[in-house]
Amino acid sequence: MNSGQKAALERLCPRVQWQVSMANLSSFRVGGQIEALVETEDSAELPLLLRWLAEEKIAWWVLGGGSNILFTSGMHEGVFLRLKGSQKNIRLREQDSPDVDGQYLVDVQAGVKLGHLLAWCARHNLSGLEYMAGIPGTVGGAVAMNAGAFGGCMGDRLRAVRCLNAQGEATELSASSLVFEYRQSVFPPEYQSGILITGATLALQRDREEVIRERMRGVIAQRRAKQPMGMPSAGSFFKNPPGDYAGRLIEQAGLKGYSHGQAMVSTKHGNIIVNRGGASPEEILALMHLVQERVHQLCGVMLEPEVRLFC
Ligand SMILES: Cc1cc2nc3c(=O)[nH]c(=O)nc-3n(C[C@H](O)[C@H](O)[C@H](O)COP(=O)(O)OP(=O)(O)OC[C@H]3O[C@@H](n4cnc5c(N)ncnc54)[C@H](O)[C@@H]3O)c2cc1C
Repeated sequence: MNSGQKAALERLCPRVQWQVSMANLSSFRVGGQIEALVETEDSAELPLLLRWLAEEKIAWWVLGGGSNILFTSGMHEGVFLRLKGSQKNIRLREQDSPDVDGQYLVDVQAGVKLGHLLAWCARHNLSGLEYMAGIPGTVGGAVAMNAGAFGGCMGDRLRAVRCLNAQGEATELSASSLVFEYRQSVFPPEYQSGILITGATLALQRDREEVIRERMRGVIAQRRAKQPMGMPSAGSFFKNPPGDYAGRLIEQAGLKGYSHGQAMVSTKHGNIIVNRGGASPEEILALMHLVQERVHQLCGVMLEPEVRLFC
């Protein structure tokens, strides 16, 4: 951005932050700097901002909780938008009457943390998202990634998504106009040039709070048993290839516990790369390439990263 554009952005978003380290904004705890960060809880100020960015031809990206991203070192130019939210940004539409399918509709803003949504659902006796327990990040990120676990995914519960296109125009899309692929929600073609998810409507069922909490505890216990806890990572690094598991192939290639610098394939789970402390993004990427090469040589499968790379 030139100095005139920077001044204009400061007028539009007085809280804009300049040259922010991604190490503080990603679960890997690594990454270069981003040129400008705009954080907001109020998506009403975003249409104007997106219109201005389009007019000025300034590149922009959306960040959620940063739990599935890897930024390389150096400066990443453009404006990064980060939605925030809390449980006050969750609303049950009809307290007592379900819709025609017996589902209760919940509106939630994209910046709400998934964990906060799940806790809210349990408190309000609403079931259907328990399999998501333990997935970090925001609702917006979970919708964009079609996050999921234990055979379920975000798309299973979505009724509608509210979003802004690259010109800042707001729309509500019904879930049927999206395609929920494995770890990716595909939006209609007119959104390919940029999309900012601002909220979602989820369809949930009634159940008792203790039962919901018990199911969530079960899911979290299974995660704890299989995944490294307390070490920075982005969860599963690679997508599972059709009919197989990336973790199984990586383990078969003898790479569990293999390290490159401070980046290491977890000793507990082959598909999780951890930052042992002070890893650089380049060490993580080099380890990613090494894993891809070895698995390809041995099994003929080219693993595709699930983590979104900003290079
Ligand atoms: C310990 C750990 C465990 C994990 N377990 C799982 C798991 O079981 N299942 C699973 O699916 N994932 C898992 N993940 C990965 C990650 O948590 C999910 O993909 C999560 O949904 C990402 O959400 P986020 O808000 O952090 O998004 P980010 O990582 O910030 O962003 C991911 C992508 O979504 C886009 N995005 C984010 N918000 C928006 C928005 N509002 N509008 C448009 N685009 C947006 C970003 O541009 C980016 O392309 C795990 C990660 C960790 C660290």
